[in-house]
Amino acid sequence: MITSEVENYPGFPKGVTGPELMQLWREQAERFGAKIIDQDAVRVDFSARPFRVWTDSTEFTADSVIIATGASARWMGLESETRLRGRGVSACATCDGFFFRGRELVVVGGGDSAMEEATFLTKFATKVTIVHRREQFRASRIMLRRAQENPKITLRTNARVVAILGEDRVSGVELEDTKSHERTIVPVGGFFVAIGHEPNTGVFRGHLDLDDLGYIRTTQHTRTSVEGVFVAGDVHDHRYRQAVTAAGFGCMAAIDAERWLSEHPPAANP
Ligand code: NAP
Repeated sequence: MITSEVENYPGFPKGVTGPELMQLWREQAERFGAKIIDQDAVRVDFSARPFRVWTDSTEFTADSVIIATGASARWMGLESETRLRGRGVSACATCDGFFFRGRELVVVGGGDSAMEEATFLTKFATKVTIVHRREQFRASRIMLRRAQENPKITLRTNARVVAILGEDRVSGVELEDTKSHERTIVPVGGFFVAIGHEPNTGVFRGHLDLDDLGYIRTTQHTRTSVEGVFVAGDVHDHRYRQAVTAAGFGCMAAIDAERWLSEHPPAANP
């Protein structure tokens, strides 16, 4: 929903906006009888069937559950970052990189995500500056080396982002050296935040097995640690993270759930 143009989803040769794609999915699901309730799940109980899921106002029961709550990009929390999101500020190089052809860019972060995003962006940008707040990088040696050896990438360490500049579009970034406290302005046409993702799994903690990063652990295919609860998309997958792969996982989870339900009819589990 927060992606402007989606250029890599099959079937849309001219691209499609994120919200438009979601509206189409919604209509298609409803045509097959899906009932969509626009509320947050705030509590679950998967200890027995029927499983229970609560929103603020309602309790739902289910013989099987597919979880597809996704992951959220971490943001830095700057006012200018929120104001210019979608206007030169992005947290997804694969989604938005194409629109920055011929521009100079900043990528903030010091982990593998920052290295990967910066390297990817050199396909389009003329220059990419990675801004990291410390001296030491968290990225793996191989990913860091790949970035260091890329002639289009410059690494700027010990630098804090004070503000992203620009009225309607990003025009630059104000940085502060964390040692000398000297401030500089770097003129750029785009700003990519790559400081990690958080899987949206808070509500499932204690009910399902999660990995060290908080993503839902699968046991086999789309199965989770609780029989009858399945998973699809970025809530368990931090490798591919694309709309098309998440949609594919959705299909897999639906098939797994349907088969599981036919083998475990509700009457057998009162
Ligand atoms: P990460 O390793 O946690 O790195 C996040 C980076 O962002 C850190 O360098 C951190 O700085 C910085 N950061 C965090 N909050 C910040 C803030 N508010 N302002 C400025 N900088 C901030 O996250 P990641 O890079 O997304 O990687 C997550 C996991 O996925 C890792 O295990 C990684 O190896 C894996 N991954 C692998 C690949 C790959 O192999 N292709 C690609 C992407 C991710 P500090 O260092 O100072 O804490």
